[in-house]
Amino acid sequence: MEAYILVVEDEEKLARFIELELNHEGYKIDKAHDGRIALDMALENDYDLILLDIMLPGLNGLEVLRRLGKEKDTPVILLTARDAVMDKVSGLDQGAVDYITKPFAIEELLARIRVAIKLYSKISRSDDNSNDKEDGEGIYRWNGLVLDTLKHLATYDGEEIELTNREFIMLESLLRNIDIVMNRDELLLEVCGYDYIGETNIIDVYVRHIRTKIDEHFGVKMIQTVRGVGYVIRGE
Ligand code: CA
Repeated sequence: MEAYILVVEDEEKLARFIELELNHEGYKIDKAHDGRIALDMALENDYDLILLDIMLPGLNGLEVLRRLGKEKDTPVILLTARDAVMDKVSGLDQGAVDYITKPFAIEELLARIRVAIKLYSKISRSDDNSNDKEDGEGIYRWNGLVLDTLKHLATYDGEEIELTNREFIMLESLLRNIDIVMNRDELLLEVCGYDYIGETNIIDVYVRHIRTKIDEHFGVKMIQTVRGVGYVIRGE
């Protein structure tokens, strides 16, 4: 069963971006851009997860969280501005399961959503009784490579590969889109976030680093260059 997520965010561009990414992941989405409307929707529907911005018109996110918490135990991830430490603390005090600081890389948000749904939502509790983390979601395999996104661990034939956060996100993006050629702009969005300003050739640099650490070290040809387009990892 697909998870049903309410995205509460008044920045239209960001809300739209999150919606597209979550749809792509197979989640069902509702959006709200106003705290009061969001609270009504959250009380009315049984969401598996709510992404809740704090600075909102109508009612602020912390107030939405407080009122919702009196009625229901829907898990909430807060979207907070950088350095808003007090908001994070009071949000977690009021029962938010996690928070993510804006700007964020989409892969980080997706990872936190997967974890929150796995740990807190009713659908994963009823669907997944196996408790078998080794074969759980969030693990990508290619030849001897195992990328465990929940543990943030990459190994090849059991040998640990040290990747930086962005190299890891890049590899996850390519593995999540196996056989799909990703252009530099798409990869840049995934790896550096929607508000990154800088050179797109940073992507080529990350590819070079990954190739040194994996392809050369383990004698494989994993990330393929599609000339004039971008990069792809082909299925075996
Ligand atoms: Ca806002």
